[in-house]
Amino acid sequence: MSGDSPAHGAGSSAVVEFDAVSKTYPGGVHAVRDVSLRIGHGELVAVVGPSGSGKSSMLHLMGSLDRPSAGRVLIDGHDVAKLSDREISALRAGRIGFVFQQFHLAVGVPVLDAVGDGLLYAGVSLRRRRARAAAALARVGLSHRVHHLPHQLSGGERQRVAVARAVVGDPAVLLADEPTGNLDSASGAAVLELLHGLHAAGTTVVVITHDREIAAGLPRRLDIRDGRLTGDVTRAATTGDLR
Ligand code: ADP
Ligand code: MG
Repeated sequence: MSGDSPAHGAGSSAVVEFDAVSKTYPGGVHAVRDVSLRIGHGELVAVVGPSGSGKSSMLHLMGSLDRPSAGRVLIDGHDVAKLSDREISALRAGRIGFVFQQFHLAVGVPVLDAVGDGLLYAGVSLRRRRARAAAALARVGLSHRVHHLPHQLSGGERQRVAVARAVVGDPAVLLADEPTGNLDSASGAAVLELLHGLHAAGTTVVVITHDREIAAGLPRRLDIRDGRLTGDVTRAATTGDLR
């Protein structure tokens, strides 16, 4: 599993492909129902829908954090059902970056190492991890905070660290679950700006959001309701600034 040639299907490539995917949790909750979709390389996609509609469940499936109950999930060309647990861990570590509403930064770990630890799986030396972490922190505008501890940062800065950690391994796709949900509007706008910048630099980004304004500003919007994909709207391409 190299991940080097994600091309498949009819000559086109998708970072994420769902083919009639359903997820039923123990107890019989149908969180995702018969969803088919493709997300191509370099897209910036918003996922919107009411609380409990299955957005996070879908994102977990996209990120191989969970396996479907039915249907097929392809991530960067790999059929998740055909991979061993070890291969899935490797796929996740090398090809997928996650950002959550909570920042999940370990207490007492300096920012540089919190970000660099994202490369542990890849077997990168400490020296290289730190160099790449410093570069990722520069991308999120935090070069002046690399030696800080998480509790010394603002919420917005912590979320930017979380974004740096998610992109330090240069993932094929960045999956963000309400990344601005815990932030004031200015910090949220800065994080959103960051996602736009990563997208402009070529990263595929999928972001769940409650914020209508955020969703309206993105090139493609998936609407989820009761576990079903009820809308998939792509805005006409413009040459102007989508923000
Ligand atoms: P959203 O992110 O849109 O709020 P979720 O995907 O978190 O929705 O949840 C969809 C449905 O699945 C909800 O009814 C939720 O209670 C249920 N659910 C989510 N995770 C689990 C789980 N691990 N076990 C059982 N039910 C779950
Ligand atoms: Mg959710």
